[in-house]
Amino acid sequence: MRRGLLLDRDGVINVDRGYVGSREQFEFTPCLFPFLRAAQDRGFRLAILTNQSGVARGLYSEDDFEKLTAWMLCELQWQGIAIDLVLGCCEHPEGTVAAYARESYWRKPNSGMVLETVQRMRLNPAHSVLLGDQMRDMEAAAAGGIGRKLLLSPSTADNKGIVTVRNFDEALTRLVA
Ligand SMILES: [Mg+2]
Repeated sequence: MRRGLLLDRDGVINVDRGYVGSREQFEFTPCLFPFLRAAQDRGFRLAILTNQSGVARGLYSEDDFEKLTAWMLCELQWQGIAIDLVLGCCEHPEGTVAAYARESYWRKPNSGMVLETVQRMRLNPAHSVLLGDQMRDMEAAAAGGIGRKLLLSPSTADNKGIVTVRNFDEALTRLVA
């Protein structure tokens, strides 16, 4: 059983500008690449799990999301970073696009994407880590049995088994310790 580092996208992989649906809006977070390379070197398999309600809201299409994902993976690969899996949840109960206007078990804080990732990547959840920037990421991780929950946030208040980290350097020190 392998250990995974499950990553939120907006606010972790890229700067969260709200509903990022195109390459022009997508800016990798500063200091991300060395952090992900170091995590790989420590034996973590990488995955990205992202709520994409912008699709349900009609701001961009699922195809736009897939194209942006393909480009993002190429850029990361160019930096020596291999992402094993990307899951996106395009549904939202208040969506305006009928096909996506519903609640989804995949949508964080629900555990669907976490459990799917654990199963597809054959991870040991107790030895895996989820890094996100919202409490709903932490809730999804907890519901999915992920052993370590890291919240990327300027505040330092740890609670309910959540470790707050202010930056990627701190996240790296808390991956296993
Ligand atoms: Mg986020």
